Amino acid sequence: MSKLIYPYTDALLQYEFKEDHPLKPDRLSLTYELSQAVGLLKHVKLIEPTMPTREDLETFHSQAFIDAVIESGDSLTSRPEYGLGTMDNPVFPNLYDAAARYVGATLDTMKAMMNGASKAFVISGGLHHAHESMASGFCVFNDVVVSIKYLQQQRTAKVLYLDIDAHHGDGVQNAFYGSKDVLTISIHQHGQTLFPGTGYVHDNGSGEGVGHSVNVPVLPGAGSDELIQTFDEIVVPLFDAFQPQLLVTQLGVDAHFLDPIAQLSYSSRGYEHVLRKLKEMAEKTCDIGWLAVGGGGYHPVNVARLWTLFLSLILDKKVPSDMPDSFVQLCKERGYTKFPMSMRDDEEVVQLYLPIEEVRLHLDRVLRQVREKVFPWHGLW
Ligand SMILES: [Zn+2]
Repeated sequence: MSKLIYPYTDALLQYEFKEDHPLKPDRLSLTYELSQAVGLLKHVKLIEPTMPTREDLETFHSQAFIDAVIESGDSLTSRPEYGLGTMDNPVFPNLYDAAARYVGATLDTMKAMMNGASKAFVISGGLHHAHESMASGFCVFNDVVVSIKYLQQQRTAKVLYLDIDAHHGDGVQNAFYGSKDVLTISIHQHGQTLFPGTGYVHDNGSGEGVGHSVNVPVLPGAGSDELIQTFDEIVVPLFDAFQPQLLVTQLGVDAHFLDPIAQLSYSSRGYEHVLRKLKEMAEKTCDIGWLAVGGGGYHPVNVARLWTLFLSLILDKKVPSDMPDSFVQLCKERGYTKFPMSMRDDEEVVQLYLPIEEVRLHLDRVLRQVREKVFPWHGLW
């Protein structure tokens, strides 16, 4: 069996908007260090990401936008009409190289999978808010869309894209909104309460893509029980009906209860349920395989422990119950003081913004609406 593809290089750490920006390079370097420290990286094939060509980027992004990214990084000037130089996406030197390298990491991985690798984890990937001509929500180029479009240029393939980031996967959804070959499913905090404000239950695709965009907005406070219910009642039947050849999962962990940005309460228990089941389904169904990418997550140590746990689940390898002392020490040296020591959550802290009964009633209603709107397109209703 081929080894899991894991692209990593210190050059990825150059994607840093500015020092006090929430998207910190430590998210990636600490994940790499922890996965190394618990012995998981000896089971993966590390690859050094290459730069994509401009033509690669043009499979999705407009010429004008690519030019604007190059120019704004060179001259350090804002281009707000392209989402560059905003609060979320400040411009920085070598912006183009840093953003393009992120695409390279995912695209190189896609190519490896087309050549026989069946599993991958691209911790730098998952820049799901980037649009054709607009940077958005810390995302400049959309590595996922470019990579799926590359695959589609080479062959036909049914792709299921599952996004469990706290934020709606708008950039990926919109890129394939009219396609029946890419089924996108996004489970996210409700758009009336969180950026980017989209992803409503009635947004289901257009033209021949109707029924192939699926949105499950959940209310603030939703936790592992709600994630598991949504996964079992919506994702599993759609996966079984759609029979994807490639599974792409955006595994942003900003929906975890410790995350400082969103207001959801997922824990390792919910993630573990989802990851185990995805592994089983992908191995049974997806002849190309399972390409996992990262995404959001703004407590770097928490990101490192969760993505390391995810890697262990994808690889089906055990990890110690506590993070190694050497890693804890490293985190302290980098200035992190408050973080859990265990790999899995010992306790679940539900952030209660609303009565939990309200969160659950809302979810039941949303899941019923999704079944009514989407399932008939897949012979499920
Ligand atoms: Zn997010």
